[in-house]
Amino acid sequence: MFVIPEQVRTVLQRLERGGFSAFCVGGCVRDGLLGRTAQDWDVTASALPEETMALFGEQAFPTGLRHGTVTVRGGGMSIEVTTFRTDGPYRDGRHPDSVSFTRSLEEDLARRDFTVNAMALDLQGKLTDPFHGQLDLAARLLRCVGDPDRRFGEDALRILRSLRFAAVLGFSLEKETEESLRRSRSLLHHIAAERVREELTRLLCAPGAAEVLRSFPEVIGEVIPELMPMVGFDQKNCHHCHDVWEHTLWALQAATPEPLIRWTLLLHDIGKPEAFTIDPEGNGHFYGHPMVSRRIAEIILRRLRFDSAGRETVLTLVEWHDRNIPRTDRGVRKVLCRLGEQRLRQLLAVKRADNLGQAPEYQGRQDEIDCLEQILDKLLTEQTCFSLHQLAVNGNDLITLGLQGPEIGRTLEELLDLVVDEQIFNERKALLAHVAASKTAR
Ligand code: ATP
Ligand code: MG
Repeated sequence: MFVIPEQVRTVLQRLERGGFSAFCVGGCVRDGLLGRTAQDWDVTASALPEETMALFGEQAFPTGLRHGTVTVRGGGMSIEVTTFRTDGPYRDGRHPDSVSFTRSLEEDLARRDFTVNAMALDLQGKLTDPFHGQLDLAARLLRCVGDPDRRFGEDALRILRSLRFAAVLGFSLEKETEESLRRSRSLLHHIAAERVREELTRLLCAPGAAEVLRSFPEVIGEVIPELMPMVGFDQKNCHHCHDVWEHTLWALQAATPEPLIRWTLLLHDIGKPEAFTIDPEGNGHFYGHPMVSRRIAEIILRRLRFDSAGRETVLTLVEWHDRNIPRTDRGVRKVLCRLGEQRLRQLLAVKRADNLGQAPEYQGRQDEIDCLEQILDKLLTEQTCFSLHQLAVNGNDLITLGLQGPEIGRTLEELLDLVVDEQIFNERKALLAHVAASKTAR
């Protein structure tokens, strides 16, 4: 049996000494039994929320009283203590109409989504597992607690949770659960965009993301129908041994598991089917596809309510993913000037993954990306000038030379372009002389 952290043990002990029964439950028990580090520790207890509040005094915060949840803070940890509860009927396909508290652990476990998430562990290490979650853990299976049609009908988010757990844990779906999930997929329309986005993000960043997307495109397509034209779309092009969707999956799985990078890879070629043309030799081309992808991606990201910073990052990376960056100081400095260091590093990560998703004989382009990264590192160590605040002159210098108003900003931009383009050195004297000369010329 695994080790329950000290802070969690303390919470369980206090509840037990207060005369209640208390257990670790859900994801932490599942992850502990799998030998994985748990994300968070949840406790389920017979104590009513007000009883938990009274027991923990100043350490207790009423974070979800309607659902019976009190957060206990201490020792640098936040532990959610939730009263045993049963959920009332679900009429909207996402929330129970009401919840009722109960003194029965078994009733509480029965409302939970999957058998592997419906196990409870007490302080003495005794496991309560009425739905045989341990057997499913050993078989690496996700199985709904109870009738899957009913469970997905109650809360359609469970459809995406099951795919997310499959991708994170490398589990399969038990047959009836899988069949029901496919049948129930249209219920996903009831789920709030933010919740869909959060689940999909976790799915996309998981080690088994490609495998799950490959097996369930029509389920993901229920929330992002724009993906569907990629599935099976033959590229008729020697650079690609995969159809557009397969290429997308390989590229996505090859990418660093950062949310915005993975979203970029999912969407980078979404415009290809629309941009497709075929030449007289029978070769497929996708001229201008990054801008088409950008347009479609924007619709999706807005619908899923990405914040504007995240949306802009993904859209820029989608737009730039196929642009050639010359492997010279000048070439890299120009892109650095347009995108900044962080975006450029993200772009190189995207290009790396995109290339790994191509036919093996074209994967040699990895060296080119290594080379671009080396140039970038060198430019940054040399403190090369790529932004206005690094320019050796500023607005005041230009005012001294007699420039006014919008002319100042425009001239600074021009100077930066010239410096970045290696047409002039970033030296005060040279820059001022250039400004003076162009002023006289006018
Ligand atoms: P992780 O924390 O790694 O995402 P988890 O299983 O702990 O996994 P949480 O979302 O933290 O997932 O939820 C804690 C527990 O609450 C779950 O293990 C499950 O028992 C229950 N649960 C969460 N969401 C649902 C749901 N939509 N339907 C039924 N039970 C749920
Ligand atoms: Mg959890």
